[in-house]
Amino acid sequence: MGRIRQLDATLVNQIAAGEVIERPGSALKEMLENAVDAGATQIAVDVEQGGIELIRVVDDGCGMQPDDLPLALSSHATSKVSTASDLEHIQTLGFRGEALASIGSVAQVLVQSRSRELEQGAQLRCDGGQFSPIEVWNGRPGTRIEVRHLFYNLPARRKFLKTIPTEMGHLSEAVIRLALGFPHLGISLRHNDKDVYDVPVSSPLTERITRFFGEEVGTKLLEVEAEQGPVKLRGYIAEPSVSRGNNRLQYFFVNGRCIRDRTLGHALQEGMHGLLMVGRYGVGFLYLEMPPDLVDVNVHPSKAEVRFRDSQVLHHLVRSAVRKALHGLPMQNAMQLPSASPGGSSGNWRLQAAPPPTPTLFPPLSPRTFERPALPELPPPPRSSDQPAAIVTPLSPAPSLEEQAHAITPEPPRYDGPRALQFHNSYLVVLEAEGMLVIDQHALHERILYEQLKERLRCGQLEVQRLLVPEPVDLTAEQHALALAHQDQFQQMGLELQPFGGTTLLVSSYPAILKRAKPAQLLRAAVEHLTSVGETPSVELLLDRLLCTMACHAAIKAGDKLTPAEMDALLAQRHLCADSHHCPHGRPTSLYFSKSELDKQFERT
Ligand code: ADP
Ligand code: MG
Repeated sequence: MGRIRQLDATLVNQIAAGEVIERPGSALKEMLENAVDAGATQIAVDVEQGGIELIRVVDDGCGMQPDDLPLALSSHATSKVSTASDLEHIQTLGFRGEALASIGSVAQVLVQSRSRELEQGAQLRCDGGQFSPIEVWNGRPGTRIEVRHLFYNLPARRKFLKTIPTEMGHLSEAVIRLALGFPHLGISLRHNDKDVYDVPVSSPLTERITRFFGEEVGTKLLEVEAEQGPVKLRGYIAEPSVSRGNNRLQYFFVNGRCIRDRTLGHALQEGMHGLLMVGRYGVGFLYLEMPPDLVDVNVHPSKAEVRFRDSQVLHHLVRSAVRKALHGLPMQNAMQLPSASPGGSSGNWRLQAAPPPTPTLFPPLSPRTFERPALPELPPPPRSSDQPAAIVTPLSPAPSLEEQAHAITPEPPRYDGPRALQFHNSYLVVLEAEGMLVIDQHALHERILYEQLKERLRCGQLEVQRLLVPEPVDLTAEQHALALAHQDQFQQMGLELQPFGGTTLLVSSYPAILKRAKPAQLLRAAVEHLTSVGETPSVELLLDRLLCTMACHAAIKAGDKLTPAEMDALLAQRHLCADSHHCPHGRPTSLYFSKSELDKQFERT
């Protein structure tokens, strides 16, 4: 180690940028917050190449005086706080005075601004921390900031940027959060000269939610409203039938600022408890208004988290308000929900029977299957001269119009084993000579569909069902970009997509084998998966995971009543699976209780 030295200002800012400016989306977030703090009513955002090439934000706020421009780009310079006590009553989104300085140290920035009171504006360039002289600028009142070539002088940082769709996802998320947090604001987002969002001034919140998350969410909103002392809660939750595989559609705003907060997230989930399937997350847009001294916003570098004076009170407020909002909802959804575990006493059985599969615990169902090779022999694909052997679905206008009958397989291999009983519309119980088999109907069907898809894909015989009327699917900007980026993979799986303006895609075909699921649902599930895996793994892995996701969505669910014929079909296909003991997610599909095991448990031996 050498001697200690004082770092120069640019290096200090570059280090600070490491915390605050992680990617184009975080630079945009800071710029948007400045525009709101400046009292803007209309903000136009233009980005190029996922913001890596350019982020431009134009606002109609109060603007800056010419000689304030160098200060705006200097660290620890702010117009928003001046004393320590100000920190306890922060009413603005920004207050640290370091965002623009950080951005200026790692990009090429042009700031143009005109104060409302002045006839003329000024401009200043900042190139990696080096300022140009201040020049005259003849623009409209307000501020226009261009950030080009983010991290151009920090190659190591630049390398960490992800693909354009991913960065675009973060940019749109910044716009969405602001547009939801400040419903009076008009805001537009354009990417590479194409409109992504254009939200008019004062358009109602429900309209914004629909615009960003589609009709699926927008038409299922329930109003939430509650009050506790000086704290006000309002907003919307979506009916529990609209749920997600992660908590990304749980938005919380505190005095307009979008935050992540575990207590509030937990409260929302608790409020919906019993109405959501295990592993699913409710959707909500909840706004808390409270005096600034009840919340400390100075606890996180990018101000994404806050500390509440009393988070227990807020937990109670959110939870009970959500419960109240759900009160009037028809309960048939709740009645169909599968229970999280098979119940008290059977829980013990699970413990006894759950160890990793061994031939004794999971014997083949019959000697016939015992001799089967490890690889499945699926029914041969249909040949024109043959009786249709595999799947031939009639061309139908739109699968949403299709009858809802269960169709486990159009051509079930014959099943002549013992009859099954359906238990709680979730499990099939099969009594055999030497024991008892309990099958999870969803897990098994999921496994069967997954293997059939995989096999047909492998031999190029995946049958595709075309839709006479392609189905539009509204997505978020991030999902839209991701789906288009993976259009080829989707096509390989039989899901054909076309852009349909804005962030809507048209689905024009789907894998016929998955006819139980609606194409829109399949696409949503697959895209949701893409958003949650973040980076694109290898094409093979991605395809495999998407197959898994699609199989899960198309499979019969726990809670679905099956006819005896459907149960037989399911059991018959069980033998065709390479691994009928586990669903594609690795959970067991069946548990076997042998007579000798039972004898042992009852201490008969
Ligand atoms: P902070 O927002 O924490 O004060 P920033 O670095 O983001 O710090 O901005 C520094 C200052 O520059 C702000 O305090 C504000 O006075 C000024 N400023 C930045 N952006 C704008 C804008 N769009 N309109 C008016 N003033 C702005
Ligand atoms: Mg700021």
